[in-house]
Amino acid sequence: MNNSKNILLLGAPGSGKGTQAKLLETELNYQRIDTGSLIRQAISEKTDLGLQALDYVNAGKLVPDELIIAMVISHAKNIQDNGGKILLDGFPRNIKQAEALVENNIVLNKVININIPFDKLTKRIVGRRLCTNKSCGAVYHVDFQPSKVIDICDICHSPLMQRNDDREELVNARIETYMTETKPLNEYYEKANILINIDGDKEVTHIFEDIKNSL
Ligand code: AMP
Repeated sequence: MNNSKNILLLGAPGSGKGTQAKLLETELNYQRIDTGSLIRQAISEKTDLGLQALDYVNAGKLVPDELIIAMVISHAKNIQDNGGKILLDGFPRNIKQAEALVENNIVLNKVININIPFDKLTKRIVGRRLCTNKSCGAVYHVDFQPSKVIDICDICHSPLMQRNDDREELVNARIETYMTETKPLNEYYEKANILINIDGDKEVTHIFEDIKNSL
């Protein structure tokens, strides 16, 4: 059934990529490279990358390619050299990043594009809440998947938080960045014959089944 080695998850912000990526990681043993989380961690640790990325993230823009490409390629090579299956989540975000994968012989076998009607994205993003305990990382939604106790994680009882860039005033900028920079990747991978479109407007478990069946 599952004979796809390296895969990429594509989709607009709020499409549910992160939730599906976690399932692929835990249930199918993919090793996930989640550039958004790596960047947020760098920002909270005030590393060079974090300090340089902060203004871009807070403007809903992509951080410059030269800050991100080398880091992802090195993670990916490590996984590949150890015989693991790579799951890219949040990279590539533009054609230049996609070409960097090709240049570095990181071959993608399948690209899963999660589709959500555009008018639903804002509500999905603004209501999202994350567990502050990084080793837990549970994700909730104030309306669609609320925690039992408001703002407290059901699993580890740590406080929940809203991502800074999930605030309503930044969401339009992020969606616009997606439209201009990232969406062209759908066509890029369609031409390469590896794009799979998945309906993301369903129950999480149904979407995961659809993804598994497509691999
Ligand atoms: P995400 O958690 O994937 O929504 O990413 C959060 C933010 O991190 C994005 O809005 C970008 O500012 C930045 N980011 C994540 N991945 C990339 C990437 N591959 N290239 C450039 N910027 C990125």
